[in-house]
Amino acid sequence: MFLPLGGVGEIGMNLYLYGYGYDRAREWLIVDMGVTFGSETEPGIDVILPDIRFIEEERKNIVGLLLTHAHEDHFGAVIDLWPQLAGIPVYATPFTAEMLKSKLAEVGLVNGFPLEILPLAHRRTIGPFDVELINMSHSIPEPSAVVIRTPLGAALHTGDWKLDENPLTSAPTDEARLKALGTDGLAALICDSTNAVRHGVSLSEADVAITLGQLIREAPQLVAVTTFASNVARIGSVAKATRSAGRELVVVGRAMFRVIEAAQATGYLDPNLPFHEETALARLPRHKVVALCTGSQGESRAAMARIAQGEHPNVKLEEGDQVIFSSRTIPGNEKAVSRIQNGLADLGVEVITDQDANVHVSGHPRRGELEQLYGWVKPSVAVPMHGEGRHLEAHARLAESLGVKQVVRARNGAMVRLAPGPAAIIDEVPVGRLYRDGMILTRSEDGQVRERRKLSFAGSVVVSLVLSDKGVLLAGPEVALTGLPAMDNEGTLFAEIVRDAVIGTIESLPRPKRKDQALVSEAVRRSVRAAINQAWGKKPLCSVLLTVL
Ligand SMILES: [Zn+2]
Ligand SMILES: [Zn+2]
Repeated sequence: MFLPLGGVGEIGMNLYLYGYGYDRAREWLIVDMGVTFGSETEPGIDVILPDIRFIEEERKNIVGLLLTHAHEDHFGAVIDLWPQLAGIPVYATPFTAEMLKSKLAEVGLVNGFPLEILPLAHRRTIGPFDVELINMSHSIPEPSAVVIRTPLGAALHTGDWKLDENPLTSAPTDEARLKALGTDGLAALICDSTNAVRHGVSLSEADVAITLGQLIREAPQLVAVTTFASNVARIGSVAKATRSAGRELVVVGRAMFRVIEAAQATGYLDPNLPFHEETALARLPRHKVVALCTGSQGESRAAMARIAQGEHPNVKLEEGDQVIFSSRTIPGNEKAVSRIQNGLADLGVEVITDQDANVHVSGHPRRGELEQLYGWVKPSVAVPMHGEGRHLEAHARLAESLGVKQVVRARNGAMVRLAPGPAAIIDEVPVGRLYRDGMILTRSEDGQVRERRKLSFAGSVVVSLVLSDKGVLLAGPEVALTGLPAMDNEGTLFAEIVRDAVIGTIESLPRPKRKDQALVSEAVRRSVRAAINQAWGKKPLCSVLLTVL
């Protein structure tokens, strides 16, 4: 049984379950538990997590949570959701575990956290499942695919992967193991769809290293490189290029330090990697520096955004400097990223992106790589995952064209029977999104974010008034306007328009009805919105504070 609670129909918030057994006796293994990030349509929300009510209800049947790799969209929700997970054992390979531990330490959770570290390419049982990790390549150390075997057959969950003979960090994709799965007979392949619309095969991380080396060698002045902090291979390539150009590496941004520490602890970066903190910039000659910065996605609080606005305390860029965006802009971040790139251009800085040179490769398989994997593992059933609708559909069609007999088009919440019998969606379970709103987790349907969207469109009006118990207006109406224009096209103040509407409404109500507080409030609210709409063409949110003495 395969059940996605997040990640199918979106890129982000990956959360998958594999089940074995019947009805009440069915046991589940969770694979990954990630977050996605809020955009302009979720004002005030930075982080979005999957709704795990299904897991809470099934808690006694959950045998563990296995993490495929340490990207936020795969492991970023573990800590926030930990109180609801009630001690489910967590399994991860050393680098992923190190990244999780560094987050646990920040919230004081390390002691007693049931984290079990698995060696790479390890095989063991977890509950009724025979679980085997297979090394893949991706844009972070130690990405693992997972083979989940039960007496009904074997399913391969790829996690995030690509084919790269020279990934520059951990081992390349284990082609031999994957081919052996095909020989033994694979029941189902649940596979990454991110780049299923892109033809050909991806470049290697080693190609990017060569380009970065050239650019840094030829740069006349200071070079800043921004990339995903988790891309350890890229950090290593920048460090190497820096050294061979006779420059000094300066690291800017907290997230970058956390990854460097985890990579040094697990052997993916030289523990003696020479780098400086950002304050060193003041004393180093500009043409002798490479600054490695966070914020490639335009994150407003990260280093790059502050540098582009000229507001960074220690990093000032000027005419003749270069900034290399060694990254891809994740859909939804385009505006934020181009704002930064324009800001840099205004400072006279040359901006180099993956449109200009081979300064980035994706960590996900293009069609050519998907074809190779299907050829090796020859699944009976394919279920595309890790993609938006068009990625999933392109992947599904590709799988069909490659001769896979059963391709299941699932979405979050669909319980998919992989075996026995024909693969099919046999049930639906509740799914949803949780917002991390300040320090509070709320359900997306709770409505406060919808209200914020409305506020941003048409502002708000608050009306306060006092009536006597006989229905006489004793005080007010007081009016507070937020986010409205001051006056209409005729020059009448909106505060006046609101006051007239309120008084007119009260007077139009017969005295006995004015005793009904709810009725009066609602009548005032409606008339205020209608009056503003007539003068403005928009309806703000409106609250009425009515006191009856
Ligand atoms: Zn990933
Ligand atoms: Zn991912």
